[in-house]
Amino acid sequence: MYVVHIHVTSNGFNRLHSSRKIRAELRRTFASGRTKSVAWRQQQLLQLARLIQENADAFADALNSDLGKPRFEVHLAEVSLTTERCIICAKKVAEWAADEDRSDQGEDWQKGWKQIVRKEPKGVALIIAPWNYPLILSLQPLYGAISAGCCAVIKTSEIAPAYSRLLAELVPKYLDNDAFRVIEGAVPEITRLLELQWDHIFYTGNGRVARVIATAAARHLTPLTLELGGKSPAIIDPEADIDLAAKRILYGKTQNAGQLCVSPDYILCPKSVVPTLIASLKKHAASFWPEGSSLKSSSFGRIVSNAHFNRLSSILERTRGKVVYGGGKDLDGSIDLAGRPRGLEMTILVLEKEYWDDDALLGEELFGPLLPILPVEDVNEAIQFVKSRDHPLVLYAFCKSEETKKQILDNTISGNIVFGDTFQQMPLNQVPFGGVGESGYGRQILRYSFNEFSYERAVVDIPNSAEDLLGPIRYAPYTQDKFDI
Ligand code: NAD
Repeated sequence: MYVVHIHVTSNGFNRLHSSRKIRAELRRTFASGRTKSVAWRQQQLLQLARLIQENADAFADALNSDLGKPRFEVHLAEVSLTTERCIICAKKVAEWAADEDRSDQGEDWQKGWKQIVRKEPKGVALIIAPWNYPLILSLQPLYGAISAGCCAVIKTSEIAPAYSRLLAELVPKYLDNDAFRVIEGAVPEITRLLELQWDHIFYTGNGRVARVIATAAARHLTPLTLELGGKSPAIIDPEADIDLAAKRILYGKTQNAGQLCVSPDYILCPKSVVPTLIASLKKHAASFWPEGSSLKSSSFGRIVSNAHFNRLSSILERTRGKVVYGGGKDLDGSIDLAGRPRGLEMTILVLEKEYWDDDALLGEELFGPLLPILPVEDVNEAIQFVKSRDHPLVLYAFCKSEETKKQILDNTISGNIVFGDTFQQMPLNQVPFGGVGESGYGRQILRYSFNEFSYERAVVDIPNSAEDLLGPIRYAPYTQDKFDI
């Protein structure tokens, strides 16, 4: 067993050669047919669950080192959820992979014909994962690939190196090394990987890189899943329970210090309730961080890199939004009491309408602990604002009446819509997750992950006896009497 660790210093030829060699090995494994066995898939899924569970503490250490992520958040949102889903996949995969016999749904003249939908694995897949929730975002696609009967290369993010190293060490110990490999590295490595033909690429990350991936995939007509981000708004209806809305929005915003694809990016709040909303946000911030500031709290994450820290600091410097809470930061490179660098305080701002056209807060996805409130006239203006921008990954809305919910639902487009809370859609196992437009395409979670890595193959078996019924009609010559039948 060996771990593939391609060094950034090795030359391009060697890198491409290694990638090619790995893909050739996985292709051989796939061609052998071994990954198609449901028993093999179940065994690999349970091994993946073991991999996560037996190394939960090591994963928490790695993510704390890479991201300053609180261990509790790692256990709750990554370790336990992914383990549970691997086990569900092992239980359900036989059902998902079973042929669907549609023979009895045929027309009368198709009696005796077999019409089957067979779920086939696509082949050898490339999974490209980001740094922010590195465990779930690499292993969730992986359980999909295993369930479908695919082989896979997992390209981890260079921005979460401790996680990446750990996964590269563990995968060969737990999973079939002929079928699954981890490749570490940055842009040069991914560029080499993208020169090769894959049977599916599953990419999670930002829209700019997604275009690079989609262009590379197009050269080989490779099907893609793109799990992207963007600015997910939260709409507040003045009739809603404002205090509870404030608490739940703040909760969603503070996970991983706002470095979350489904983080509420900004709040659209009717002017009449903005003061109440701000008071509630401050009250709940005081209860979340009794130390007096998120900067002093071990329950609040840190910014992943100097580049992201500087990006967020620059937004804070340039915005014309008024800071109503927070605004503090540790100096670049300094560390908190727990030894974690790059602290940026949870910061709430109010951004008046006159600045909406070009303010830094409304440019790219914030992806950090900055929470602007945009005062609007009413829910209708909030809807118009959402409609005027790219389709978000998630739209959050806090409403009292079913009519207001329906108004928002009917008049907007988003990958997902959640009423009454934030982030709590993520542990749900019955509904799919994914984007639309700029927030991506394709779906994941359990059966939806299986679907991304499979294709439906129509298997049709027509008996010789069909000749009796069809034979006299379908063959040439097409004489006039055949039109009368
Ligand atoms: P990242 O920088 O780790 O990049 C993601 C992957 O792309 C990495 O493996 C990286 O090596 C690779 N990559 C980087 N530059 C590349 C290039 N030029 N060519 C090819 N590959 C390249 O992560 P990120 O993009 O900063 O992740 C954050 C973004 O991801 C946010 O926009 C967030 O909303 C989104 N996101 C979406 C989801 C989702 O499920 N929809 C989940 C998490 C994050």
